[in-house]
Amino acid sequence: MKRQVVFWAFGAAAVLVAIFVIAKTKLPWIEPISPTAVLRKIIQPGVTFVDVAREAGIATGTANQLLKSAKVKYDLARIVSGRELAFVFDNLTGEVQGMVYNIDSDNRLMVNKTETDWDAELEKIPYEIKEKEVSGTIETSLFAAMNSRGLDDRLTLALAETFAWQIDFAADIREGDSFKVIYEDRYLDGKYVMPGKILAAEFVNDGAAFRGFYFGGTAATKAGLPAVVLTKAGYYDESGNSLQKIFLKSPLQYKYISSGFSYGRLNPITKKIAPHRGIDYAANYGTPAVSIGDGTVVQAGWNGPYGISVLVRHNETYGSRYGHFQSLARGIRVGAKVKQGQVVGYVGATGEATGPHLHFEIHKFGALVDPFKVAVPPGEPVADADRAEFEKIVKLFSFAEYPGHKPVE
Ligand SMILES: [Zn+2]
Repeated sequence: MKRQVVFWAFGAAAVLVAIFVIAKTKLPWIEPISPTAVLRKIIQPGVTFVDVAREAGIATGTANQLLKSAKVKYDLARIVSGRELAFVFDNLTGEVQGMVYNIDSDNRLMVNKTETDWDAELEKIPYEIKEKEVSGTIETSLFAAMNSRGLDDRLTLALAETFAWQIDFAADIREGDSFKVIYEDRYLDGKYVMPGKILAAEFVNDGAAFRGFYFGGTAATKAGLPAVVLTKAGYYDESGNSLQKIFLKSPLQYKYISSGFSYGRLNPITKKIAPHRGIDYAANYGTPAVSIGDGTVVQAGWNGPYGISVLVRHNETYGSRYGHFQSLARGIRVGAKVKQGQVVGYVGATGEATGPHLHFEIHKFGALVDPFKVAVPPGEPVADADRAEFEKIVKLFSFAEYPGHKPVE
C-alpha cells in the first residue's frame, strides 16, 4: 500500500516535470513573471512577413491584419533577411499584442494592439548613447590597431569613410600613422549594440594631419521661422570646409578591401603611376572597384588594352576610367547613372595586364591628368549663418582641450 502511494506520487511528479519541460521547450519565450513575452525571429532569405508571423504561432488572419495596419507607415513586404522581427505576446492568453521591426540602424516600426484595431508608428530606436574617445598609432594595419583596442570593426570603417575624400585608406596607410576618434557608442537595454556617430576625428597620414568635426546641419527651425537648410549634415574641417568632395581619394575602398571584416585576408594593395599617367593598383582578383564620383557610364565592356573597362563622365570637366576588370558590376552599361562609391567592376587581369590590378585614370577635358595632382572641387562649406554654432563644436572637441571625454576602458 505504502509502496503504491510512493509510486503514484513519483509518477505524478514525473508527469508534472515532463509537462513543464515540454511547455518550456515548445514555448522558449515564456517568462512567467512578466505580463508579456517577446519572441524574436531572424528573417530567413526568401520568406515573407506572413511566413515569419505564422512560424511565430500567429494566425494567418492576424498576420495579414498586422501587415495591413503597418502599411500606412511601412510596407512589411520590404523586410530584409538577416534582420529581426520581434513579436510581443500576452503571457496569459498567448495572443499577439504587437510587433517591432528595425527598419535600419536608426529607425523602427512598432505595431501595437488597440481596443479595436492595430496602431502603427515609426520611431527612432531609443539607444542610450555613451561618448568615448580612442587614439592609437598604426603598426601593421588600421584594423589591427583598432582591434587591439577592443574596438568594433564598424567604427574602423566609419573612420575610413569620414576621410574617404582625403586619404587613400586602401593603399596609403603606413606604419606610424596615428588617429584620435571621439565617437558615440549605442546601447539598448544596457547592452552594447553598435558604434554610433563619429563626433570628431583626427588622422595623421604620412605626417599630414586631417581633422573632421560632425555638424548636424542647420537647426530645423530657429525662433519660429520656417526650416531652411543652409548647411548639410556631415563632416567639416576646423575652418568649416566640407570633407566631402566630388571625388573620393581612391577607387578601392577600405570597406571592400577588408573582405568581410576579416583583416587576416587583407589584400596586398600597392599603387604606382604607370608611364601613361594612370595609377595601377595591385589588388586581388575580385576586389570591388568604385566610381570616385557621381556620373554617367560612357563606356562599359571590352576596350582593347584596357580589357573589360568602364569610363565614367562626371561633369563637363572630369571623367574617370577603370580597367582590366574580371567582370562588370550589375547594372553597369553605357548610359547608366552611377553614384559616388558605387561598385563598377571587379579587379581582374583582362587586356594588357600581367597580373591582377586595377588601372585607374582621371581625365580632364578628355585628356589624361595625373590623379595625384587633380585639385578636387570641395563640397559646400558651413554657411555663415551656422558658423557660430559650428565653432562651438570645434571648440568642444578641440583635441587638445576637450574636457568631457574619457578614454575607452
Ligand atoms: Zn595601367
